Amino acid sequence: TDTCVLVCGGGNAAQVVTGLLSVRYKTIAVSFFADEAEKWKTALGNDSFELTVEGAAVNKIVSKPAGITNDPSVAKDADVIILAVPSFAHGEYFEKFAPYMKLGTIVGVMPARSGGDILFSSKMGDKAKDMVFVGFETLPWACRFSEWGRKATILGTKNTILAAVTPPTAKAKALGTLQGLLGVYPFIVESPTNLGISLRNPGMIVHPGVMYGRWGPESWDGKAKAEKPLDAEKPLFYQGVDDFTETVLLGMTDEVQAVCRKMERMVPGLCLKDACTLKQWYLDCYDGQMTDTSTLKGCMNTNKAYDGLTHPCKGEAGNYMPDLNYRYLAEDVPTGLCFAKGMAEILSLSTPTIDKVIIWAQGCIGLEIMVDGKMTGKDLAKTRAPQGVGITTPAEFIKLAKLETKG
Ligand code: NAD
Repeated sequence: TDTCVLVCGGGNAAQVVTGLLSVRYKTIAVSFFADEAEKWKTALGNDSFELTVEGAAVNKIVSKPAGITNDPSVAKDADVIILAVPSFAHGEYFEKFAPYMKLGTIVGVMPARSGGDILFSSKMGDKAKDMVFVGFETLPWACRFSEWGRKATILGTKNTILAAVTPPTAKAKALGTLQGLLGVYPFIVESPTNLGISLRNPGMIVHPGVMYGRWGPESWDGKAKAEKPLDAEKPLFYQGVDDFTETVLLGMTDEVQAVCRKMERMVPGLCLKDACTLKQWYLDCYDGQMTDTSTLKGCMNTNKAYDGLTHPCKGEAGNYMPDLNYRYLAEDVPTGLCFAKGMAEILSLSTPTIDKVIIWAQGCIGLEIMVDGKMTGKDLAKTRAPQGVGITTPAEFIKLAKLETKG
């Protein structure tokens, strides 16, 4: 077909998407990260990219991308742009593509994390009204490259995946086009709004919440123990959730629910049903894999999918220290939790639990986000807090999120 697709990034996900789409579409891989595009071009040379799909009938896809580049002007011919890169890098892609993009370009972001649509709108400027943003709740595959730039493997494909389209008028075309690109699985299920995807983000609760519960000032005196490494074992992440950590997680998820209810009251017709509580998310996503679903702690402690997963640690056995700069804080706080906190502040809702987690986490990751309880830190622009793009009132948010056009 004539469809031209850009795939952004150069890691596991971007390589897999490039391999998957190059067979049927004119696919150009774009990476702005250091000299990654050049490196990838050199690694592949004149060979084809080889994608292995575990468990599929046709389990080898051999293809050649039409190009690998760091030149943003390729966006002028793009019908679809897929971002399959960690969320801290999204802004750079939006900003560099903005001058070149043609009307109606569909930008699919997997995963979008929180507030991706707001960042997109603000970076697109005047062009925003003619562009289509599709936020996916997660990456459709579990995947890894096996030989960097040359070979990758899809370990598993989700059956269904939620995605929301901004503006809603572009829904049918955008979701149809993206489903065509992805194939039969995962089946894209439409979510009513990107605000729902943003506030659903389970990682923004689970990861910082469990890290705080185990390593925060209320349970682990980091200063006193900084010199004292852990025992030989890394602590279990999900199975290790105790009563205290559960109260932290419940506090955070309830505070996000309050944001949802207040937004729904403020915007007639707005439906944030997908931004469910964390416990509901477990019930929906891991049905049948948990032996105790009576409490949130039970869901996490007894989830088979989480068996044996440990806290991110640095050092070697006998010498482990928690890795407080791991993406569980370094990604999930700025591009997840900060959005929820920013929304709460705009709505004048207090969030004591989220606050204590952010205040602790910002020190761990070396960012200044909150000052004196307010979202006014100097690094706000590095986060997805709406305040980072100058939004401080509900009216400004509703406008940038294009929520008025609903219903
Ligand atoms: P990855 O770590 O492999 O991505 C690395 C890429 O990110 C690099 O190749 C580069 O293009 C970019 N990058 C790294 N540092 C950068 C910097 N300082 N500036 C600009 N760009 C930089 O990640 P991935 O496995 O491809 O995952 C992409 C996203 O999908 C992440 O948000 C991840 O959490 C999510 N995800 C991945 C999987 C999976 O199976 N791989 C599963 C679920 C969700």
